[in-house]
Amino acid sequence: GYDILKKAIKGILNKQVFDENFLMAIATVGAFALAIYTKSGDYNEAIAVMLFYQTGELFQSYAVGKSRRNISDLMDIRPDYAMIERDGELVSIDPDEVPVGSVIVVRVGDKIPIDGRILSGETTLNTAALTGESMPRTAGPGDDVISGCINLSGLIKMETTREFGESTVSKILELVENSASNKSRSENFISRFARYYTPAVCYLALALALIPPVISGIAGHGFTWGVWLYRALTFLVISCPCALVISIPLTFFAGIGGASHAGVLIQGSNYLEALSKTNRVVMDKTGTLTQGMFSVTEVHVEDPDKMSRQEFLRYAALSEWTSTHPIAISLREAYESETKEHIVAEDNSYEISEISGHGVAANIEGREILLGNRKLMKMYDIAVPNSEMTTSVNIDNNRYDNTELEMSESGSETHGSVSEQAPSSGTQIHMAIDGVYAGYAVVDDVIKETAPKAISELNRLGMEKIVMLTGDAPAPAANVAGRLGITDVCSGLLPEDKVRKVEELLDSNSPKGVLTFVGDGINDAPVLSRADVGIAMGALGSDAAIEAADIVLMDDDPLKIPKAILIARKCMRIVYENISFALIIKFACLILGALGIANMWLAIFADVGVMVIAVLNAIRALRVPG
Ligand code: ADP
Ligand code: MG
Repeated sequence: GYDILKKAIKGILNKQVFDENFLMAIATVGAFALAIYTKSGDYNEAIAVMLFYQTGELFQSYAVGKSRRNISDLMDIRPDYAMIERDGELVSIDPDEVPVGSVIVVRVGDKIPIDGRILSGETTLNTAALTGESMPRTAGPGDDVISGCINLSGLIKMETTREFGESTVSKILELVENSASNKSRSENFISRFARYYTPAVCYLALALALIPPVISGIAGHGFTWGVWLYRALTFLVISCPCALVISIPLTFFAGIGGASHAGVLIQGSNYLEALSKTNRVVMDKTGTLTQGMFSVTEVHVEDPDKMSRQEFLRYAALSEWTSTHPIAISLREAYESETKEHIVAEDNSYEISEISGHGVAANIEGREILLGNRKLMKMYDIAVPNSEMTTSVNIDNNRYDNTELEMSESGSETHGSVSEQAPSSGTQIHMAIDGVYAGYAVVDDVIKETAPKAISELNRLGMEKIVMLTGDAPAPAANVAGRLGITDVCSGLLPEDKVRKVEELLDSNSPKGVLTFVGDGINDAPVLSRADVGIAMGALGSDAAIEAADIVLMDDDPLKIPKAILIARKCMRIVYENISFALIIKFACLILGALGIANMWLAIFADVGVMVIAVLNAIRALRVPG
């Protein structure tokens, strides 16, 4: 036990006296002293204290090491090398040394080391380590692939689009490594607890050793030093808080590790704890519940004599030239697939500014183009003809909190006369050229396959409120919500309105519980950080989201939202089990020890036993429920 004694002395020298080493050192040395004092010659107990404590430590370091290894195995996504072709031969080099735009070769069975785009070769990719999804994904030339996937079936050549340090794997590993520094309240509770608890039990033990013998001495029954010193030492051994100190962080660690294996990256145990208490879920529509991949389904040109459909699409595509918004992408694609030509904007021929939540204002080849929703048109005082009024569909207005509905309808003079027009489920993108309304395109999004199930699962988990927020117009918003079974919808929101809405919900009548926001990270970073828990989904490759979110869902699957809540609940259940189990056994033994019923043997068994059980219980958190 010399190393324990050494640590105890070091602790005293560093003025951090009260730790487990101190407790154990006092107990051992005290037991020896007692044996000498009573001339019993029985040193077994003194030895046993140290022996069992050491055995416990050994077991614990094995268990911790094993679960850490388990977790690193699960997270085994760090690529060791990248292959490049040099003089007709494949050489492997450090991924760190591959510049952006290099051509690398990924053989079957290898991990993709760096994010990039496939140049040649068809293959299937195993993304399980990243997303928890076991179905392999197929990929071919032109597809973007992310680092960390395993190449399953064919040799591919790819061009890297990022440096290794900026690639998905590096980002994920960084995130997981940092998660330890965000401690939960339970974890902080344990360290605070230990800070007061250990000195407290030391003083109690001292009192136990001194006060009863003194009292009995004064009372004339003789000073019974030996008995009470023994009881005080037993008390010290029992009181060692190892089980708590070790098992609680280990539980969180296992929980976060298990979750990451399921494609849910949790950036700290505080978020895990908060997530388990979620009772309100607020979700973004586009990209979260829908695929966020629009396609143009309809083009309506206001004056076909002045402008052809193709010209309309060309202006639209050029105006969206610099935007990464999914709607922008769909407009560019529509032009390219219709004309079969690759659109290229010439330098200096365009000037574009994107107006968040509205659309874009651009100067293309000398013409002022506005492209976006009704709000944008209103902002520039462009009258939108009513012939495409679609918002007066039969939605029960009271059920939907439609901010834009009021706005657009009050602004439209004749909506009654056109309400026979079939309601479109799509979103209308209007265009005005040089201040004159030019027409609109309808873009349509697809609801994610698993979204309805995700909503019903969330209901099953007892959420008090499920709210959908969107910047989209009321009609398409209501359409999506109706099909998903969501009754709380707010549409026509600007990004700042979303923050306001979340703040309203945060201090609304039910202040208890946690509000979780789920978004795709595209222009909802402020909301992600404002909510109690911000979940970014489909965040593979989106740096902004990874930074703003507390929890990152690696793939696009909304089912991961209820899953994440289940994981968090299971982990917290284990934490509370361990805390209460350890405390109950501890206090029971402490009382027995103080009364002289428990001897040191029982004490040491209780201590090591509780710790072993708590650690084994903690490791259960690794397994993901469901
Ligand atoms: P969401 O809440 O669905 O993520 P956004 O805030 O991204 O919505 O956009 C809200 C609305 O603003 C869109 O439905 C669209 O009408 C309009 N809009 C935003 N950006 C653009 C763009 N680049 N081009 C055209 N319209 C846009
Ligand atoms: Mg969005």
